[in-house]
Amino acid sequence: MNTTHTDCIIIGAGLSGIGAACHLSRKNPDKTYVILEARAELGGTWSLFKYPGIRSDSDMYTFGYSFKTWEDQKTFADGPSILKYLNEAADEYQVRDHIRYQQSAVSYNFDTKEKLWTVTTVNSSTAEQTVYTCQFIFSCSGYYNYSKGYTPKFKDQSHFEGQIIHPQQWPDKLAVANKKVVVIGSGATAVTIVPELATEGAQVVMLQRSPTYIAALPNKDKIADRLKHLFPKKIAYRLIRYKNIFYSIIFFNLCKLFPEAMKNFIINGAKKGLGDFPVDPHFIPNYNPWEQRFCIAPNGDFFRAIRKGKATVVTDHIDRFLPNGILLKSGETLAADIIITATGLNLVAFGGVKIQLDSKPFDVSKSFVYKGLMLSDLPNFFIFVGYTNASWTLKSDLTSEYISRVLKYLDKHNYKAVEAKVIETDLKPVPLLNLNSGYINRSANMLPSQGNKAPWRIYQNYVLDYKMLRLDSVKDKRLKFF
Ligand SMILES: Cc1cc2nc3c(=O)[nH]c(=O)nc-3n(C[C@H](O)[C@H](O)[C@H](O)COP(=O)(O)OP(=O)(O)OC[C@H]3O[C@@H](n4cnc5c(N)ncnc54)[C@H](O)[C@@H]3O)c2cc1C
Repeated sequence: MNTTHTDCIIIGAGLSGIGAACHLSRKNPDKTYVILEARAELGGTWSLFKYPGIRSDSDMYTFGYSFKTWEDQKTFADGPSILKYLNEAADEYQVRDHIRYQQSAVSYNFDTKEKLWTVTTVNSSTAEQTVYTCQFIFSCSGYYNYSKGYTPKFKDQSHFEGQIIHPQQWPDKLAVANKKVVVIGSGATAVTIVPELATEGAQVVMLQRSPTYIAALPNKDKIADRLKHLFPKKIAYRLIRYKNIFYSIIFFNLCKLFPEAMKNFIINGAKKGLGDFPVDPHFIPNYNPWEQRFCIAPNGDFFRAIRKGKATVVTDHIDRFLPNGILLKSGETLAADIIITATGLNLVAFGGVKIQLDSKPFDVSKSFVYKGLMLSDLPNFFIFVGYTNASWTLKSDLTSEYISRVLKYLDKHNYKAVEAKVIETDLKPVPLLNLNSGYINRSANMLPSQGNKAPWRIYQNYVLDYKMLRLDSVKDKRLKFF
């Protein structure tokens, strides 16, 4: 077994891990680091998913990094463009040489006396084990299982004679022209795939149990174009980023303050895009806007496919699969050559790694999240979890900025470790994620909690987080430095 030591180990070479490495090289260039990546390529989500039309649901001015401008004309980017952007960032900050591919972290152990983490990895192709040591772990492993998406068990699924495909395992070449395709699901993936398959000539039915809020947004931002014209590109990027952060906070809060009015506003928008197709029941969700993640239809592509009769939506429940389609609870049958199960992801916390403290299992579910980026009682361990109501990157960037300040503080005062401690006697646990999504509910017991008050509370608000992570002092009576 080989052992290598660096100051920091970043787990995962996705958007968060690459971003964390760029931030380290910008703000803490004296720190040595490696990135341990389970797969054979960087990009995480953006190199894994290959379904047609794969794209961001967030605008790229906030989904992009704070330190790297987004120069494409499109506001919502396709998967390959995001991957290109991540590769460029990796090159610009010489991150690539630090990545160790096919190194799947399986266990972490923190030795309190030595103030040292030991990370054990397994090579995903040779099964060889390697041991790494470091002072700090940055857990950038995303939130879902990479090997398999979530598909519920459908009755008589094996009777279906066509192809069943989960979007996480999209086949290399799938010919859909003139095929009857049923897409099961109503989340962002289904809303992306449906218009794409319709464009490729398939007859598409989106089969949903219940509707989701979908809003058409222009894929070209006129104000952004104007700002790009008027200002140097870094300033323009920053201005557009703040504009979009401001818009999304306003929109989110309007949804929370005036749910009925916002519900009507969004449904009326759908009505306009759909032409004669009925919004009721297919586009009237039984929850308020932003209680679940919101879906975007860039340039109204999803509504256009329906309006033009190239795709349709059925709201019903599956009774069972048939050899040539799906029998619904209503008694209706949907004919299908291909069934796409856009039914979600399997949530995995911290890359599925076994975490130990002084060689004893550390129970993550008993810990509280400090400022959304550390776990109580677990020293020198930072987690990267983005926003659920805004771009992931806004929070992962702030997380890096905060860590940079903590590392500097430790060095300045000759400390080696930092640990968050709950000192409040009345702190109440609150579920970590406040979105009522299927995959979050299925896995709630694997996650740490947030608390009912700051700094244990996660507000999902960039402005509050900016103050807490970039402006407030690092020193806090809940942090033990040693
Ligand atoms: C289809 C899709 C579209 C999305 N669109 C948006 C969007 O528009 N806006 C938004 O804000 N969010 C979106 N998200 C959420 C998205 O996942 C995040 O925005 C972002 O890509 C997360 O980056 P990450 O690096 O934290 O995680 P990931 O992209 O999941 O990358 C994690 C990396 O860690 C590696 N890893 C995991 N476990 C281990 C281990 N044990 N050892 C070593 N390596 C490990 C993985 O192989 C992977 O490379 C989307 C998610 C999906 C699935």
